[in-house]
Amino acid sequence: YMPGNAGQERTPSLPDFILVVIQDLTENRRLERMRTDFVANASHELRTPLASLTGFIETLQGPARNDPEAQDRFLTIMLDQAGRMRRLIDDILSLSRIELKAHVRPANTVDLTEIIRHTADALSPLSADMGVEVRLRIPDTPVRIKGDRDELIQVIENLIENALKYGHSGEYVDVTLSELSDSQDAPAWQLAVRDYGEGIPPEHLPRLTERFYRVDVESSRAMKGTGLGLAIVKHILTRHRGRMEVESDPGKGATFKVNLPALENTQGLPEKISA
Ligand code: ADP
Repeated sequence: YMPGNAGQERTPSLPDFILVVIQDLTENRRLERMRTDFVANASHELRTPLASLTGFIETLQGPARNDPEAQDRFLTIMLDQAGRMRRLIDDILSLSRIELKAHVRPANTVDLTEIIRHTADALSPLSADMGVEVRLRIPDTPVRIKGDRDELIQVIENLIENALKYGHSGEYVDVTLSELSDSQDAPAWQLAVRDYGEGIPPEHLPRLTERFYRVDVESSRAMKGTGLGLAIVKHILTRHRGRMEVESDPGKGATFKVNLPALENTQGLPEKISA
């Protein structure tokens, strides 16, 4: 329906109604489609380790029955596959729990600096393993925002973990928290997680937060990834009325920037804050 010229006769509001109904159906269909795709992808992802487990059980019952050395090897692989299934199920459950609360903004006040320090500490065994130092550049004074502590830990954990996993060729991961200077109307804080690894080719950037999307499936598997981490991050940020931007210089690393509304900002962030 296009608004008619002034003075031109038109029938009362009926065309407006038709437009609304069509839009609604399309949105419903899109959501329905996303749900079906998700169930199909999740089943497929779970089936792969399950098939591997079944195969090894059959081998243990048959050909490897009297071969303790092979049994040891296969059991180690089986434990690995079971771990993979557990991680997938945990992430699928996290995602659906967050989706259920998607429209309720967290009511608690939390200190972002405490959450960042806590998360970096919890990840110190992984950073030691990877030989990467996590450098924090965050204010000494508390930075309070409205948020859910566990969910924000999950956001920061996923971003630092990815930086450690995929940026391991660099020596550092830099985590900074700063006030967004160009957001007078919508005061906000920006958390940036930067690594100096391989980076991400530009064509992949818009799709990173899709469920099960991986730039390189093999390296994600090798790093015990599920392809759900950034989808979870995106959903948590939506609930916090925040946003994420990714910048990457292939070959030089990637920066994930998370913008969260400051405490005095009760509206949440507009679609685009920075120029
Ligand atoms: P995964 O469980 O596979 O790590 P994520 O949703 O966390 O899933 O990330 C999706 C994909 O984005 C990863 O598989 C990886 O290919 C890419 N990616 C995420 N973070 C980085 C990073 N810091 N550097 C390079 N690639 C990254």
